[in-house]
Amino acid sequence: MFCGCAVSQLGAEPNSSVCEICLGMPGVLPVINRAAVEACLKTALALQCEIPRHTKFDRKNYMYPDLPKGYQISQYDLPLSVNGRLDLDGRQIRIRRVHLEEDTGKLIHAGDKLHKARESYVDLNRAGVPLMEIVTEPDLRSADEARRYAEELQTLLRGIGVSDADMEKGQLRAEPNISIRRSGSDELGVKTELKNINSFRALHRAILYEVARQAQVLESGGTVVQETRGWSDSEQRTFSQRTKEFAEDYRYFPEPDLPPLEIDPTWIEELKRSQAELPAARRARLVSQYELPANDAVLIAADRGLADLFESTVASGADARHAANWIIGEVAPHGLNPSAPNLAELVRLVTEGRITRDQGRQVLHESGESGEAPSAIAARRGFEQVSDAGELAGIVDAVVAAHPKAVEDYRAGKKQAMQALMADLRKRAPQANPKVASDLLLKRLG
Ligand SMILES: [Zn+2]
Repeated sequence: MFCGCAVSQLGAEPNSSVCEICLGMPGVLPVINRAAVEACLKTALALQCEIPRHTKFDRKNYMYPDLPKGYQISQYDLPLSVNGRLDLDGRQIRIRRVHLEEDTGKLIHAGDKLHKARESYVDLNRAGVPLMEIVTEPDLRSADEARRYAEELQTLLRGIGVSDADMEKGQLRAEPNISIRRSGSDELGVKTELKNINSFRALHRAILYEVARQAQVLESGGTVVQETRGWSDSEQRTFSQRTKEFAEDYRYFPEPDLPPLEIDPTWIEELKRSQAELPAARRARLVSQYELPANDAVLIAADRGLADLFESTVASGADARHAANWIIGEVAPHGLNPSAPNLAELVRLVTEGRITRDQGRQVLHESGESGEAPSAIAARRGFEQVSDAGELAGIVDAVVAAHPKAVEDYRAGKKQAMQALMADLRKRAPQANPKVASDLLLKRLG
């Protein structure tokens, strides 16, 4: 966020991607990362936020071993953006603010059972990585809704290309704040905050657990304490981490090493103009323009690369439904990377019955790797089926002549006799298009 270190990949050597600035050495000066600010602005615009002209960074002071500076540079009273909303299945979830800060390092706790020693290690690769915090108003009403919101947010972030937002890699983390109220009452109770939830499933379960826990505390005459809590996936429960700090505990003050930011309105206008179609809008368009089933549209629109491939494939002449099926069933799950013209050609080969679906899969995998045209691969591998009626007629004649008993049975009404005839036909002409061949055979027998 404030230095030139590369963002380290998952599994990188600890403390291999650090410098004087993110380590918080005395005398260094941070510099604001323009690309991070732009990514935050893009997100804010996609969430229909207002972008105030003036913004600044602040110091949030606290001591923790994963924070070598003793403070985190964040944004307090003048965030980059405010007052947005996200459409969630027709309901507007209000966004309070989207702001930027720097991530902290990570502590890795290791126990030595033999000597009963406990050791903790610190990895500062993540320290200083840009972190965007998106805060909602208390508009989400259930664990289901919170999960849907997180999924929709992930789709949006991927769609506008600001983050892969992969929860397993820690690129998207959720910190649900949970409070409950008596039915009929407007007043929400004391809230707790669950920290660093890193999967949709954990988010859902942790909220369900926490709602039940708070209800039980209140029902038994107790009071809910404002605190941050962790989620233990192995024990499937939340646990108290620390009682909630209040803002004044952090002694926020404007970061003296960074100038206040003034966002140029022409920058915002440029970003608005260059903003790609948002996933939700694209989803709706895929349904209206291509008559895709809603479920298919959701899957395809969620990934900009897939959606682009789909539209280019249809533009190259493929049937929309079939193209969608191939993308959802084969391209996406196997991470294939066919060109649109090649995918269109493959869809046509299969829908026209020139190769089987199974052969189509093999051709697609090969074409995705080599870039070779599907028709060339099919021809080289001998997949192209013979659909020419003239060519097949002689083979049908031979089959009929070779099985007088089966032919007689079939004509006498034993329809299953057809199976033996088709089996022989497949043996004599493995490349015969089964549909064309069986039609010819039926005609000859009828
Ligand atoms: Zn650095």
